[in-house]
Parts: sequence; C-alpha cells; structure tokens
Amino acid sequence: MSELARQACDLSVVIPLYREGVHLGDTVKEISRVLEGLETRYELILVDDGSPDDTWQAITAQAKHNPAVKGLRLSRNFGKEAALAAGLEQACGKAIVVMDGDLQHPPSLIPTMLQCWRDGAEVVEAVKQHRGKESLQSRVRAQVFYRTFALLAGYDLRGASDFKLIDRRVLEAWRHMGERNLFFRGMSAWLGFRRVQLPFDVPERAGGQSTWSVLKLTRLAMTAVTSFSSAPLHLITLAGMGFMLFSLILGMQTIYLKLAGKAVDGFTTVILLLLIIGGAVMLGLGIIGTYVARIYEEVKGRPRYIIAEQVEQ
Ligand code: UDP
Ligand code: MG
Repeated sequence: MSELARQACDLSVVIPLYREGVHLGDTVKEISRVLEGLETRYELILVDDGSPDDTWQAITAQAKHNPAVKGLRLSRNFGKEAALAAGLEQACGKAIVVMDGDLQHPPSLIPTMLQCWRDGAEVVEAVKQHRGKESLQSRVRAQVFYRTFALLAGYDLRGASDFKLIDRRVLEAWRHMGERNLFFRGMSAWLGFRRVQLPFDVPERAGGQSTWSVLKLTRLAMTAVTSFSSAPLHLITLAGMGFMLFSLILGMQTIYLKLAGKAVDGFTTVILLLLIIGGAVMLGLGIIGTYVARIYEEVKGRPRYIIAEQVEQ
C-alpha cells in the first residue's frame, strides 16, 4: 500500500472469517451502510481464516466492487485469534474496530464507539449484556472460564467480547506483545489505556453455525490461562507443602504407634495415600507440562499465521 493510501484512512474495521461465505454479502452491506453514514475514510479488512467454503470467493467479489474492502487469505485455518492478528497487522486507521463476521456484533454500535473515541477513550469495549440465544451449557462454560480466569489471572473479563475499538497507540503497543499464543481479550485488558465500556445485546447469527467446537474452546481457555497467569504453578507448590505437612504428621503418628507396639496393618491408609499422592504428582506434572509446551511453542518462534493471498483494488 502506498504511503498516501496509508494516511488516507481514518478507520479500519477488521473481521476474521471462517465459513461465513453465505452471508458475507449481507454483513459487508450492513457494515458499509453504517460506515458510509459516518463520513470517515474507512477500510474493511476481511481475513479468510482458511475456510473450506466459498468465503474467499465472496471476499474477492466484495473487493472488486468496493474499493474500501481489503481481503487476506490465510494459508490454512489458524484460528480466530491469529486471523484477527493478521488483520490488525495490516490495519492503517487512526482507530481500529475489530468485530465478528456473523452480525452478532451489531455494526450500529460503531458510531457510538467512534464518538467515545473522539471523546478521549483509547479502548472502547462492547460488553455483552444479554448473551442472546445461547445454550445453558455454553453459558455455564463461559461462567466457569471467566471466574477461573479472574481468580488466576486477576482480570475480570465477564461479558467481554472481541467487539472493540482501539486507538492507533493501543495497536502499536499490542504489536510489541511478541507472544505466539494469542488471546486478544486478555491482551487488550493487559495493555491498559483509557477504557470505556458499551453494553450491547448479542443478536442471533446472520446465518451458518458457530464453528467453535468444545476442543477449540478448551484450547483457547488453556492458552488464556497459561499466557496470563503462572498461578497454577504456584498452586502446585502450595499443594506440595500441604502434602508434606500431612505426611509429616502421619509419619510421626506411625512411628509413635510402632514404638508403642500398637501398629496395625494400615492397608487402607497405604492404598489411599498412594492414590492421593500419585494423583497429585500426575496433576502437578501435567500442569508443568502444559507450561513447558507453551514455552516450546514460543521458543520455536514460528509465525502466528501465513498469508497466502491478498486482494484490494
Ligand atoms: N472465526 C475464525 N476462525 C475460526 C473460527 C471462527 O476466524 O477458526 C471467526 C468467525 O468467522 C466469526 C468469529 O470468528 O467471525 C466468531 O466466531 P463464531 O461466530 O463462530 O463464534 P461465537 O459467536 O459462537 O463466539
Ligand atoms: Mg458468532
């Protein structure tokens, strides 16, 4: 992109897309309608996260008709966080909006977000007020995750969404966070800056289905916790100390009973102790292993994503 074009942009809207081909036209139309009314020079960065459907064709078709649209295609499905990062790296606006491509993040909120930004906010976060039509199961999962995250990492992200407006300064600061394991919501909270929250109700999906499987969500939750907190490691140490104390007391009791000649065959105690301590050691090793795996991934230093193709007019 030329330097002139880079300067000629006030607002960037970044949207990661996975299997959103069917309703992409509607999404872009709806967002453009809102942005056209704002009289700002904007760009719409659509990132195809290696979708197997016709998302990329839909993006190219949009880019052909609309000079504001820029398309990126990742070489495979790297996950939403990576797709978001790819789009953010390309964004040239003074303010940058990130949102989902299924209209669950209402574009009608963008003008208010911009107003808050003009009034001095550096991060405008849209906070989910009503989570919309969501199964009880996923509600409970979200609750458990956010509570655990708050407890371990110290950031209360309840209601947080990836629908945000950030100032250029925040984006530049974000670029300096070199980690490969991405969790945008947490990273944005970590960055600080002057923040404003805007409540919104989550509407239904424009079409298609959510592609977040339990496995993908679990992986994201693990990334989130391990990237933002080392508390589980400290907890193991604490638990280990507890066990030490316990075994000390039990050891003294055993010796006393032996000396007093009252030792009975404590079969149950031995089995229970073996099970409890074995379990605790395995759990501890598992937690350490998870962190070692993260370190391994960071040390490998592989790129967060690979761009296969780009389109713009
Ligand atoms: N998404 C993505 N890569 C993925 C999964 C999802 O880029 O591997 C995008 C998706 O196209 C959408 C956003 O992330 O724009 C949110 O996904 P979705 O609507 O499936 O999640 P939910 O609304 O259930 O949180
Ligand atoms: Mg959605």
